[in-house]
Amino acid sequence: MSPVPSADTLLAWYDRHRRRLPWRAEPGQAADPYRVWLSEIMLQQTTVVAVLPYYETFLTRFPTVAALAAAPEGDVMAAWAGLGYYARARNLHACAKAVAASGGFPRTIDGLRALPGIGPYTASAVAAIAFGVPTVPVDGNVERVAARVACIAAPLPAAKPAIATAAAWLGDQPAAIARPSDFAQALFDLGATVCTPTSPACGVCPWFSSCAARLAGIAAELPRKAPKAVRPMRYGVHFWLTDAAGRVLLRRRPPRGLLGGMTEIPGTDWRALPWDEAAWTDHAPMKAAWRPVGEVRHGLTHFELRITVMAARVPVIVADGFLGAVEKLDAEALPTVMRKCVALASGER
Ligand code: SF4
Repeated sequence: MSPVPSADTLLAWYDRHRRRLPWRAEPGQAADPYRVWLSEIMLQQTTVVAVLPYYETFLTRFPTVAALAAAPEGDVMAAWAGLGYYARARNLHACAKAVAASGGFPRTIDGLRALPGIGPYTASAVAAIAFGVPTVPVDGNVERVAARVACIAAPLPAAKPAIATAAAWLGDQPAAIARPSDFAQALFDLGATVCTPTSPACGVCPWFSSCAARLAGIAAELPRKAPKAVRPMRYGVHFWLTDAAGRVLLRRRPPRGLLGGMTEIPGTDWRALPWDEAAWTDHAPMKAAWRPVGEVRHGLTHFELRITVMAARVPVIVADGFLGAVEKLDAEALPTVMRKCVALASGER
């Protein structure tokens, strides 16, 4: 391995260039574990830019972990709707209840790891940022920086153990151990603003002279990734049914399973075969003059979804489910795929 990129140098860079983020403490201030934990859960699989408006809304509605714990699950899901990965919102609520019941967040990685929805990365991030535990949390940004400075050319995911070792190697320096919270966030910021995925700005990087991948001329190629498996396709038909009073038929998905507990417009199963009219008619909530509105395409973790949206208007809705005012659907816990269906169908209302 090349010489260890200096933690002192990175921290000096961070002191000048750190990003100001709403969950981040100002220099010299203690971080709020609730804010740190909430941001880390929201940032999983999502960008800072996408998270910011949700984060502000969440903090306004649930300013403390006790307020979040005491909120009805439906309110939490509605505030989360649009961020995706809805099991995380349920775990977030369960975690808030556990933390409120025990009087605060545990201060160790093991204690945090035992809470609902907190995996090894989040436990390490909260421990380092909120409680100053000397550990290096490896998110996507840190993974990229570590792979580059240590020039790990094996593809992901096989390279993960080597990258974790490299990240720990970076953190095993007196300056990093003295400022674990800042060191973790400095790595996040370096990855997000300088050591970016496709065009790393090596010329302005504090680790320019010690980065092994830059010296080898392959920085932008790392980390390499194994080819992605093609996700299978699923098909569904969903029904936008409105009445004379401008209300739409909704239903709640079962509490467990995919998009559990979220709101949707009624529909068929999502299956491997496309639906023809003879097949979907039986799943329509009412007999009506159904007309096709269009198709929604959406990628979920394990499959690609194609949803045909059908619309009808009837004087009175008599069907299983509940009615929601069309203009108030923003307050419903609609997952992103359903928001796409609503956006498509709402021209028909
Ligand atoms: S020198 Fe370039 S590749 Fe290496 S850490 Fe800095 S920005 Fe990333």
